[in-house]
Amino acid sequence: MSALASRPEGCKGCRDSVHVPEAQIDRMIEKLERHPESCAPTDQYEARLASCAACADLQYGSTCAHCGCFVRVRAKLLAGTCPKPGGSKWA
Ligand code: SF4
Repeated sequence: MSALASRPEGCKGCRDSVHVPEAQIDRMIEKLERHPESCAPTDQYEARLASCAACADLQYGSTCAHCGCFVRVRAKLLAGTCPKPGGSKWA
């Protein structure tokens, strides 16, 4: 089997390990929340995730095709940015 055959979707850098249970991402978020000074306010976090949910570059419902980040984690970080080429989709 070729390496490409093991890649389930279009993102050239992603392998099966990109699929993680939602509970694992929940734990990452919980760890970030221990440092509230580094977290985006709830309204900003939710607005960012709404943009990701409407973005064609969201892969597997969890991952940004441009940076490979879990968008829930990236959006949670106060200093997080949207890496969309040509300009951020986050307000
Ligand atoms: S390009 Fe921006 S809006 Fe689209 S999935 Fe990535 S972080 Fe989200």
